[in-house]
Amino acid sequence: MALRFFSTYSRQLEDFEPRDLAGRKVDIYTCGPTVYSRAHIGNFRAYVFEDLLQRHLELRGYTVHRVMNITDVDDKTIRGAREAGIPLTESTVQFKEAFFEDIETLRIKRADEFPAATDQRYIDKMIEMIATLISRGLAYQAEDKSVYFRINKFPDYGKLAHFDLTQLQSTGRVKHDEYDKEHIGDFALWKAWDEEDGDVAWESPWGRGRPGWHIECSAMATALLGAQIDLHCGGVDNIFPHHEAEIAQSEGVTGKKFVRYWLHCAHLLVDGQKMSKSLGNFYTLPNLLEKGYTGREIRYALMRVHYRAPLNFTWDGMDEARQALARIDEWLVRLRECSASVPLAKTKGEQAGSLPYTFEDALDDDLNISAALGFLFETIRETNRAMDRGELDPASATGWLDWWKRINNVLDLETEDEILQPAEIVQLAKDRENARREKNWKRSDELRDRISALGWEVRDTKDGQKITRGAGSG
Ligand SMILES: [Zn+2]
Repeated sequence: MALRFFSTYSRQLEDFEPRDLAGRKVDIYTCGPTVYSRAHIGNFRAYVFEDLLQRHLELRGYTVHRVMNITDVDDKTIRGAREAGIPLTESTVQFKEAFFEDIETLRIKRADEFPAATDQRYIDKMIEMIATLISRGLAYQAEDKSVYFRINKFPDYGKLAHFDLTQLQSTGRVKHDEYDKEHIGDFALWKAWDEEDGDVAWESPWGRGRPGWHIECSAMATALLGAQIDLHCGGVDNIFPHHEAEIAQSEGVTGKKFVRYWLHCAHLLVDGQKMSKSLGNFYTLPNLLEKGYTGREIRYALMRVHYRAPLNFTWDGMDEARQALARIDEWLVRLRECSASVPLAKTKGEQAGSLPYTFEDALDDDLNISAALGFLFETIRETNRAMDRGELDPASATGWLDWWKRINNVLDLETEDEILQPAEIVQLAKDRENARREKNWKRSDELRDRISALGWEVRDTKDGQKITRGAGSG
């Protein structure tokens, strides 16, 4: 089956054809965190889905270049800093660090680039784009000195969300500070400075102010990936107005179709309800770790439901995740023992038909992870049965281990305790420890390079060096 995805724009499954199909290169832009508080598990559901998407594309031989932006200036971040009584950057930097800690816990691959909106390079790009939009009649400065996008001049506005503009007029609420706009749906590209912004401001041709949230993503996406992107992802709550606005701004400037495939991840519910602080069902990653769950258990729980279906997070679900992983762990231990055993006198050639390929086929079909996991557990059941009967020969066990290694590049669910370091790595690590004790940094770096050339990653932590399997290995 060809790789296909459900496009929010066309509302149908489409065969996947990136711009550089022959070179098998894919560009992905994903809307990242707004760093005004610690991200919650609903946010991470979307990031785990994007991680699954990237890893499956890589399994299928694509080279993925992914950009994830960091929103470090907007209404929420400014309010957060003001309430804490600290400068904006001091406030956002702690949540940025927390975010990187959390994605590591969840084994989410780091994007190739994490542009931040306050980087002067992108502020310049935003100003340049806004000027172009004004020159084309697609934007205007209102009496309140802010600059707005003129949605009536962009005929495709509303197409992503399948939204009728007349609807917007009848149901839209007029906020007290927005009466200067021509149309209720016109959104701010540049917000004129006001007292509440404190010292958060940049100079622009329209006076001091700050960018609107939507233009941040258009500027960072086009600056880093060009006029057209293969895949753009986010949560369903990003569709309108954020992504709709991104299309209008980017296409208004470049004149090219901005995104080939829009993929959106459904909501996460907790015990069937929307997560909220007032309901007491609002969880961050540290909340779950405190309860004794591990990063990989949370990863599994967030990953196991198809991304377009709502995910209902429950404690029973967490326990199921723990049990599912225990089954994988036990299976791997058994397979390793079996693969190292003496070949059977008469081999039955126990291989479960075409199963090994079905896992990948399921993911080809709009990332059908539940079907893919179904195949995995069916495989576990069958091979366990064969091992119970003493009918799985070592070569088959090795074959299954190789298969697991391949699909685990996508799942990344193996326990770290089970991963044995080869003797060579252990020796190199010892040598490096000695080199560091002698403060021989040059040798330490050389050894790090040799370890990483073998597919392992060294990190220096408070408790000494930690060695894990590198993301690109296997
Ligand atoms: Zn965005």
